[in-house]
Amino acid sequence: MSPEASFVVPAPETVSLPVIGSAARFPVRRVYCVGRNYLAHIREMKEAEDERDPPFFFQKPRDAIVEDGATVPYPPDTDDFQYEIELVVAVGAHARDVSVGEAFGAIYGYGIGIDLTRRDRQRECGGKRLPWEAGKSFDRSAPCGPITPAGAGGDPMRGAITLSVNGVETQRGDLAQMIWNVPEIVSNLSRSYDLEPGDLIMTGTPAGVGPVRPGDCIVGAIDGFGTLTITIGDREK
Ligand code: MN
Repeated sequence: MSPEASFVVPAPETVSLPVIGSAARFPVRRVYCVGRNYLAHIREMKEAEDERDPPFFFQKPRDAIVEDGATVPYPPDTDDFQYEIELVVAVGAHARDVSVGEAFGAIYGYGIGIDLTRRDRQRECGGKRLPWEAGKSFDRSAPCGPITPAGAGGDPMRGAITLSVNGVETQRGDLAQMIWNVPEIVSNLSRSYDLEPGDLIMTGTPAGVGPVRPGDCIVGAIDGFGTLTITIGDREK
């Protein structure tokens, strides 16, 4: 496309995240999410028949990303707005049908994400065997902290992952409890999609998910990858 190209409506902005130790930012292409990746969360949701099912994936729109420190308005179309703390994998290279052994080569870094969920809509969709979009893929549903380059932070295979609401810890797990670990997720996803630089993968949440109210302060933390703080704003019309 020539630099002089013009558009008939305003072009979407490039979505990006800050990178620890760099003035340059991480541009976001796609946001994939893994469903059901910690046993204790599967059990609290009482939704899987086989607890070792292959991982499954859904997406959030990239412009659903909000940055650390943001206020996220309580969204429309729900009375059960919930958090899920998750390790985020940031893809840095093309990957298609890569093995588990090759997967780390495609990873740029890691971050903390919160998979915000309209739980009532998600359960409704599941009950009717409909896609999860209404429950998962809405505006501002993907808060994401800064990206830490691989090797510059914690170990994506182990380490505490926690979330607190108004200073009270509600979620606690360990990255080692993932049913499908980081390289297995990347390998699995790359069998179905071309992974490209800029892709993010939210890797599932441990037990302890729950609802929030306007005014709540939510802090996620993962060992070696910092923290992510958001505040829930007033209900949107
Ligand atoms: Mn999730």
